[in-house]
Amino acid sequence: MNHNLKDSYISFFIEKGHAKLDSASVIPVNDPTCLFNTAGMQPIVPFLLGEPHHLGKRLVNFQKCFRLTDLDSVGDKTHHTFFEMLGNWSLGDYFKKESITWSYEFLTEKLMIPIEKLAVTVFEGNEFVERDEESAQTWLSLGIPKERISYLPAEDNWWPSLDQTGPCGPDTEIFYWSDTENPAPPKHDPTDNRWVEIWNNVFMQYKRLENGEFVPLSQKNVDTGMGVERVTALLAGVDDNYKTDIWLPIIKKIEDISKKIYDDENYTKSIRIVADHMRAIVMIASDDAGIRPSNTDRGYILRRLIRRMVRYMNQLGVDISTDFETPIVDIIVRQFSSFYEEVHRNKEQVLVVIKEEKDKFAKTLEKGLGEIKKALSKLENGILPGDVAFKLYDTYGFPIELTEEVANEKNISVDLDGFREKVKEHQDKSRVGADKKFKGGLAESNPQTARLHTATHLLQAALKKILGND
Ligand code: ATP
Ligand code: MG
Ligand code: MG
Ligand code: MG
Repeated sequence: MNHNLKDSYISFFIEKGHAKLDSASVIPVNDPTCLFNTAGMQPIVPFLLGEPHHLGKRLVNFQKCFRLTDLDSVGDKTHHTFFEMLGNWSLGDYFKKESITWSYEFLTEKLMIPIEKLAVTVFEGNEFVERDEESAQTWLSLGIPKERISYLPAEDNWWPSLDQTGPCGPDTEIFYWSDTENPAPPKHDPTDNRWVEIWNNVFMQYKRLENGEFVPLSQKNVDTGMGVERVTALLAGVDDNYKTDIWLPIIKKIEDISKKIYDDENYTKSIRIVADHMRAIVMIASDDAGIRPSNTDRGYILRRLIRRMVRYMNQLGVDISTDFETPIVDIIVRQFSSFYEEVHRNKEQVLVVIKEEKDKFAKTLEKGLGEIKKALSKLENGILPGDVAFKLYDTYGFPIELTEEVANEKNISVDLDGFREKVKEHQDKSRVGADKKFKGGLAESNPQTARLHTATHLLQAALKKILGND
């Protein structure tokens, strides 16, 4: 299914005059400011900004994506940290009408999705920019009834965000009614998560200047992204991404190893997290960029993923000193090797990375968890002191985010300032001067800061480079 979806998407857009691009690495090349590719458009930024692409003005691909910002959503039915995105682009060529029409045609004629299960959102307009009537009218003309078209504000339907300077514009999001029992309600309610977003078409149409003005862009672009895992679930007729060919073999293996049942709601979330993190770990560690667990930046994220995965395996009752990882890695490598040869080529490295990091953490996990429990039971003010968090980090190898997570499960917060203070003290003492040491981790754990690392950030940099500081 997965295989067919990618194939039919690519051939559909090739028929519409698009050239196929290879998937870029999940690690952005030559851009240390951006930790991971979070969307298919990210590697395409220079061309969206006007640099000519040797393959032409219409491009299509599938792309490896990783979103740390979605880490806390992992455990639900539709958000993964690592996922694949299908994308098609117009670099100053076709615009809203063609883009929307082709999305509609692909969904209803190629994937045979009944129109009654679709709803869309468009930009409602504000004091600077008129509402996106052209998109709405195109949807209407294709037969989407008006009660399935919602006009929403910039938070939902503007890219990247209203206060960002640089290229920007309205977008339209396409939703699918995932509830297999009940028919879709007449109006799209943005808070009803049975409406699952499957595709997002961005119309880059303005440039926002430093003085706040929006001026039309001379090269208007289209950037679309559709999630492979979500559409695979839709095609399989299930309302849970993990109940598809993509995830089931991994889930079954985790069930075998842990002797726990996915459908037992005591374990569903933990099993999803282990499955998700194992896949992300394999895809990051197999990348030719050679990311290895460390205390900074990408390495820190890989470390967090492995340690968090190990903690959940432990929670599922698995003896983590055993080799549970090899059979799971085997499945993931088999699934991806025909698309990404490096995953196969670097499999042994991946196993070594996981094993070494797991062993380091496994030795202290039980003690560390015991230590956290002890500290939590003694608390009076609902705040875990910074020095305890530091001890957990320093002695037991608990990434601060993991300590926070365990504490938060008990409605207890962590004194992060106190923790930072301790880190600093420790650094001053050992004079490693590695102030950077915790930056990656702490910065990335803050969604605000993390967003800076996304495409927007890249766009600003590229824009400055290409257009100067206008
Ligand atoms: P959502 O609102 O559901 O979080 P999004 O608006 O953040 O999605 P986009 O940035 O528009 O998502 O990405 C384009 C498409 O990629 C989405 O329409 C969806 O199909 C898919 N997608 C986005 N985030 C994830 C994720 N964490 N896991 C799986 N698929 C995703
Ligand atoms: Mg999202
Ligand atoms: Mg969305
Ligand atoms: Mg979206």
